[in-house]
Amino acid sequence: MLPANVVEKLKQNSNLELELDKDLRKFSTMRLAATGDMVTVKNLQGLKDTVKLFSENNIKYRVLGWGANILLPTKALHPYIQLDFSFDRSLLDNVQPEYVLPASISLAVLTSHAAKFGLVGWEVFTGIPASLGGAIFMNAGTNLGEIGSLVKEVRLVTNNGEEKLIKIDNKSFSYRHNHFINDGDVVYQATLVNKGQDPQISQKIKDYLEMRNRTQPLKEATCGCVFKNYQDLERGFTCRAGQFIDIIGLKGFTYKGLRVSPKHANFMENFGDSNYEDVTTMIELMRNELKLQYGVSFSPEVEF
Ligand SMILES: Cc1cc2nc3c(=O)[nH]c(=O)nc-3n(C[C@H](O)[C@H](O)[C@H](O)COP(=O)(O)OP(=O)(O)OC[C@H]3O[C@@H](n4cnc5c(N)ncnc54)[C@H](O)[C@@H]3O)c2cc1C
Repeated sequence: MLPANVVEKLKQNSNLELELDKDLRKFSTMRLAATGDMVTVKNLQGLKDTVKLFSENNIKYRVLGWGANILLPTKALHPYIQLDFSFDRSLLDNVQPEYVLPASISLAVLTSHAAKFGLVGWEVFTGIPASLGGAIFMNAGTNLGEIGSLVKEVRLVTNNGEEKLIKIDNKSFSYRHNHFINDGDVVYQATLVNKGQDPQISQKIKDYLEMRNRTQPLKEATCGCVFKNYQDLERGFTCRAGQFIDIIGLKGFTYKGLRVSPKHANFMENFGDSNYEDVTTMIELMRNELKLQYGVSFSPEVEF
């Protein structure tokens, strides 16, 4: 629980909104039953004030983007910070030399813009549900590439409330990782590059979206892929988690309000009132079964 003096200071700050013990069901794509304290910051000042206040009071916090890669605990021990910076959407009515964007903007908005103008390279994040900040944190990507390839600069507030500019180079990202966001840092802005236009990109984005819709349960409440594919670097092979789950007949397997997706076995659908404990139990059941059948330990892709 947040101390009373901290609650008071947050309530007095017009650059943010504090909601205590909030129902967070709508704040993760898996729609898990969860509650917690939420600070929604509306601008840079609000973000700096919040981070500074939490740091001075030794309060740990968690940044929440779209909640597409996080399993929210049933009752959060630490407050969440969410960004809701205003952005002049009319900037996306035209192609820009480069794009200075708030971390809170959704990748879906950027994909629409890329499809409209055929922006070269922007197809890499087609169909990924994410905020720009969450996508940069995860270096989100598809088999078309990764978002890191488009990022020129990132601005963040460090865990002591200071602003910091990060110039991206070829060591800044690796597979599903960034190497510049430290614990407690909050990304609030990023600059994406314009690599030119190609009308074929629009079709590529449309085709890719259509393929994802056909093969993944995008209308269901999920957290994306549950397990990472297993890579044996020494012997040079990859075990695709979805394929292995499918082969052992777990497609459609149900536990409480959760089901292994009949469409794609590496997705888990929440069709009931499931919570964190239900999901972690189901993941453990599946992991054990996979280990028993194949002798391979698959690691979860989603953050606990
Ligand atoms: C249906 C579905 C399909 C998916 N497909 C893909 C895919 O093809 N490729 C892929 O890479 N991922 C995929 N994912 C996973 C997910 O979309 C990505 O991991 C995405 O980057 C998460 O972004 P988010 O905004 O939801 O971040 P969250 O899940 O909210 O957070 C993820 C992490 O980023 C941190 N974070 C978030 N915002 C910030 C910020 N502003 N500053 C600092 N840290 C921050 C959080 O603290 C957390 O540690 C999929 C998920 C779903 C539900």
